[in-house]
Amino acid sequence: MNDKPYRDLNSYFQRLFGGKTYKITIDAGLTCPNRINSRGCLYCNERGSGTGLWAKGYDIESQIRLGIEGLRRKYKKIDAFIAYFQSYTNTYAPLPLLKSNWETIKKFPEIRGISVGTRPDCIDRERIELLSEFSIDYKVFLELGLQSINEEHLRWIKRGHGVKEFEEAVKITKDYPTINIVVHLIFGFPEQTLNEIKETALYLSQLGIEGVKIHLLYVAKGSALKDIFEAGNFKPVDKDRYIEMVCTFLEYLHPEIVIHRLTGDAHRGELIAPLWSMDKTAILKEIEATLRNRESYQGKFFKEIIY
Ligand code: SF4
Repeated sequence: MNDKPYRDLNSYFQRLFGGKTYKITIDAGLTCPNRINSRGCLYCNERGSGTGLWAKGYDIESQIRLGIEGLRRKYKKIDAFIAYFQSYTNTYAPLPLLKSNWETIKKFPEIRGISVGTRPDCIDRERIELLSEFSIDYKVFLELGLQSINEEHLRWIKRGHGVKEFEEAVKITKDYPTINIVVHLIFGFPEQTLNEIKETALYLSQLGIEGVKIHLLYVAKGSALKDIFEAGNFKPVDKDRYIEMVCTFLEYLHPEIVIHRLTGDAHRGELIAPLWSMDKTAILKEIEATLRNRESYQGKFFKEIIY
């Protein structure tokens, strides 16, 4: 039974795989169409939101091996691993290359799931069909970056796609029901309102997606946002406001949607601001305490509105 006031990932994995599950993050050496002629999304840096291991000479197989060994040294009990193709856009490559990248996981029997991170405008039926073939042996997740339902925010962060492309990608993927869709969102845009947060939760709740991952809009070294921040033209959201946003989002979100992440996760040594975001454990505790103080939980107001 879940003891959090939201549907947390650990409990979900426990039910799915019967034990403690960890993700191995993989940099498959791909690129992103949004970074070809520009610096990409405002918050992105040259590592494409990933580990940068490919550029250091580690192929996919060695990254998985090192990931498994590292996690086994750190944690006593591990029951399953998920291979997470994280860096850049993991459907932006010819089909044979994607197939060979993803098939690398077959060399590791301890891997039980595959998760592929990508942009909505890099989805088509062939790629989704290929991914769905892994459902015979693995739990399959497609991590889709929406970031915002507000087109102005999407333009400001230079995402290079709109909500329409996201909806088309969801429509294609839903034809393959063994694929679990996990939507990435960003909180902390300038002047982002609580009403927008609430609308985002309700919008996603009626799409039939399986999970969400919330990131804080933080400033990372090497990103275009760093220049804007240093010029005094971007102020990161403060902690109390962020916690209020997350709690409001959860209250209006469908109770069955799994929460894969509730806060930002800059790579070691890359965070510039806000520094409060470094203490992830404290933020998660505060989110939970805030929900409990107001006798609230995921889906509290969603039920009142929809049913
Ligand atoms: S879609 Fe991802 S990899 Fe591409 S520019 Fe944006 S954050 Fe970077």
